[in-house]
Amino acid sequence: MNDQDSQRRVVIIGGGFAGLFAARMLRRAPVRVTLIDRRPHHLFQPLLYQCSTGILSEGKIAVPLRDLLRKQKNTDFVLAEVTGIDADGRRVLATRPLGDQMEFGYDYLIVAAGVQQSYFGHDEYATWAPGMKTIEDALVIRRRVFGAFELADTAADPAERSRWLTFALVGAGPTGVELAGQIREVATKTLRDEYRHIKPEDARVLLFDGGDAPLTPFGPDLSAKAARTLDKLGVEQHMHSIVTDINATGLSVRAQDGTVTRHEAGTVLWTAGVAAPPVAAAIAAATGAKQDRAGRIMVGDDCTIPDHPEIFVTGDVMSLNKLPGVCEVAMQTGIYVGERIKHDVAGDMPTKPFRYHDLGSAAYLSRGNAVVSVGRLQFAGFLGWVVWLVIHIGFLTGFRNRLGAVVSWWPAFIRDVRRERTYTTEQVGLVRSTYDVLPPSIAGTALPGSTSGTELHSAGTEPSGRTG
Ligand SMILES: Cc1cc2nc3c(=O)[nH]c(=O)nc-3n(C[C@H](O)[C@H](O)[C@H](O)COP(=O)(O)OP(=O)(O)OC[C@H]3O[C@@H](n4cnc5c(N)ncnc54)[C@H](O)[C@@H]3O)c2cc1C
Repeated sequence: MNDQDSQRRVVIIGGGFAGLFAARMLRRAPVRVTLIDRRPHHLFQPLLYQCSTGILSEGKIAVPLRDLLRKQKNTDFVLAEVTGIDADGRRVLATRPLGDQMEFGYDYLIVAAGVQQSYFGHDEYATWAPGMKTIEDALVIRRRVFGAFELADTAADPAERSRWLTFALVGAGPTGVELAGQIREVATKTLRDEYRHIKPEDARVLLFDGGDAPLTPFGPDLSAKAARTLDKLGVEQHMHSIVTDINATGLSVRAQDGTVTRHEAGTVLWTAGVAAPPVAAAIAAATGAKQDRAGRIMVGDDCTIPDHPEIFVTGDVMSLNKLPGVCEVAMQTGIYVGERIKHDVAGDMPTKPFRYHDLGSAAYLSRGNAVVSVGRLQFAGFLGWVVWLVIHIGFLTGFRNRLGAVVSWWPAFIRDVRRERTYTTEQVGLVRSTYDVLPPSIAGTALPGSTSGTELHSAGTEPSGRTG
């Protein structure tokens, strides 16, 4: 038996913030680490909205996991989707991209699978209203947002033109607010001189939410400042509004007094809810763990599943003391769990429970305008934007992307130039792939075998706040 065979095996499911930080904590530990992710990259989700609105390319917000782990000789990366575990046999079950099955034995298991979009039981909305969780989502949104202006430009019917120039966003949490502000900036600044038949600045952006105000978790002051800024940007805020239907041409919403109003909109985007991925239910079934309403796995204050001290749950997929789904929770739980395993291997399992240190929340509203809340300190407007910038530069994982992001931000922040507007239209003649889910009456001709441009995502709400 060589040294490696005698070493304990750690399997990590997911290479997001939680999984990556756990792996990094174990880099010098005498263990063999296998990190399994269904995607080859680590994604910086907080900047997805900049990718979808043409400021940053995919490569600036996603780094190959292999690259990030290349110097970590005790760690192997596997591209596969984990489907479940055999808790008694201590095996992780996974499927390779080509469909065949794989298994991985473990002594310690770290579950760091994140969350996915939830449509609160209406998965059919996903066809018309893409969510914002993955690179695929961001590229679909980019295609729909910039494609909508093209369709408006060539629409002969004024009603159709006005529909393509209407963008509806569901959810006034940070992601919805950020996207709404960006779409107005695209319309009023980036595209303003580019069209001959429409005025891009005529684009309407409607923001719907069931609550009282946008960004309520930031507290009444910052929330009110954000509402005023959105107002100035031209975002039409519809609070106390519950979506009752979404289809190809818009959405219907119910107001507090029960009246239902139909809004024609060529683009509807969904940023309202989150749910645990299917693997969480499989792990709960295998271990007897409880799940919260959003399907997240409930753990003790050492991040383990009851009666399974060898299985840790971290980040967004973990349910503990109502902690928010934000990067800081993911990173801090990843570090905590990595440390715990290191000590256990060394024979001195610590007993300290996980303690979360809240570093604050930030949301970007428009160029030169953001809201940031750090403990008792609150920043808004230009100062908030400067703090936002410093936080985000500091948090980008990997130097290459950090520098790349700064270089890409420069023209966008100084001159409203968005260089990353490329999207694909596989059948250029018909531009059908821009809106390949539309029925013939809307898209022109039927697209044989066409499918949704979005991934169909399979309850909770958007992270209450954002840790910077
Ligand atoms: C649009 C958006 C904006 C956000 N903005 C902010 C912000 O400004 N500040 C902030 O603090 N937080 C923000 N968040 C939240 C933050 O991104 C998350 O809290 C953080 O990414 C959670 O990290 P995680 O490691 O738990 O999960 P994730 O980063 O989601 O990583 C989970 C990983 O698990 C993989 N995975 C899932 N299921 C499987 C499976 N079955 N098999 C293999 N792999 C699997 C996924 O591919 C993924 O790589 C934002 C989130 C979104 C979506």
